[in-house]
Amino acid sequence: MADGIQPQPGIMDIALYKGGEAHLDGVRNVLKLSSNENPLGPSEAAKEAFRRAAHDLHRYPSTDHAALRAAIGDVWGVDPARVFCGVGSGEVLKLLAEAYAGPGDEVVFTEHGFSMYPIYARACGATPVVVPEHERVVDVDAILAACGPKTKLVFVANPANPTGTMVGAAEVARLANGLPSQALLVLDGAYAEYVEGFDAGKSLVESRENVVMSRTFSKIYGLGGMRVGWGYAPQAVIDVLNRIRGPFNLSAAALAAAEAAVRDTEHTEKCRIENAKWREWMATALAELGVPSDTSTANFVLARFTDEAEADACDAKLRDAGIIVRKVAGYKLPHCLRITVGDESACRRVVHAVAQFKGAV
Ligand SMILES: *Cc1c(COP(=O)(O)O)cnc(C)c1O
Repeated sequence: MADGIQPQPGIMDIALYKGGEAHLDGVRNVLKLSSNENPLGPSEAAKEAFRRAAHDLHRYPSTDHAALRAAIGDVWGVDPARVFCGVGSGEVLKLLAEAYAGPGDEVVFTEHGFSMYPIYARACGATPVVVPEHERVVDVDAILAACGPKTKLVFVANPANPTGTMVGAAEVARLANGLPSQALLVLDGAYAEYVEGFDAGKSLVESRENVVMSRTFSKIYGLGGMRVGWGYAPQAVIDVLNRIRGPFNLSAAALAAAEAAVRDTEHTEKCRIENAKWREWMATALAELGVPSDTSTANFVLARFTDEAEADACDAKLRDAGIIVRKVAGYKLPHCLRITVGDESACRRVVHAVAQFKGAV
């Protein structure tokens, strides 16, 4: 390639995102617990809507996403006019960064924050600013101390990934209130549906001008393969995002599946309850084996080991047993493994393998 052809500054500083692994050489019956996928899968109604979409593949999809936004409005009690749909919540977060940050600007997130945040920051030429947490919990005072005249965006996942911890509503409100006037607070609610009765920032979006909430169909709705997410934002932000998104960013099949999924509240509720039950069971069983974790509010457990060597050795043992979990050294948590809460048999398989590793069976 010609020497003069160079990408925008910042892009070559991006480390490639590594997704959760799905295969182990020579192992059949692999148990993939590395990407926080819903073990129960999507609603039957969502699958049926996807199959029906096959009849109209020659048609362009809706460009205003009106039917999906109306369904989200009905189910979550939000104003459909202020809902924005994207190709996964990832697209919503990326467009926010593109629209509001650029060279010379700062994008703030915390040390164990989701690994896509620095990618979104660098991709638009902005400077990532990493803030410490307090014992694996987002520290509002540390974030506020890191904000200044260059801060344009603050990304906070609540519940957080990979820690599974949360910050309370009063703390989140204090954060929104304390930000500099040019900064937007983005509350990433990828795991919000796992927390019963949780508002995930909805009321802050409605009462303030500087808060956006993002949500996804990839986690509790079991539609990671369809790529659908949404944001809830002040009208001014929605108007900005609509100018820069592709007019047909979501496929007809994705829109149809997501709409059916969000309306099937019975399935969502069942997934939330099953997750809470087996998360608690697995966390307790692991703790009894000497592997503690913070109380998780999401669909995974961040298992803590004595040190990195023990975490690596346990990971190797799990792989021998055909189980793939997530190493999180890249999140400054080298002594931890993030384990997705699977179904009953998956949780039992994990605990059995860890028990063998610890010499308990
Ligand atoms: C999984 C996850 C997402 C979801 O990304 P999609 O693009 O919607 O699949 C967003 N934020 C966090 C923190 C996540 O863990």
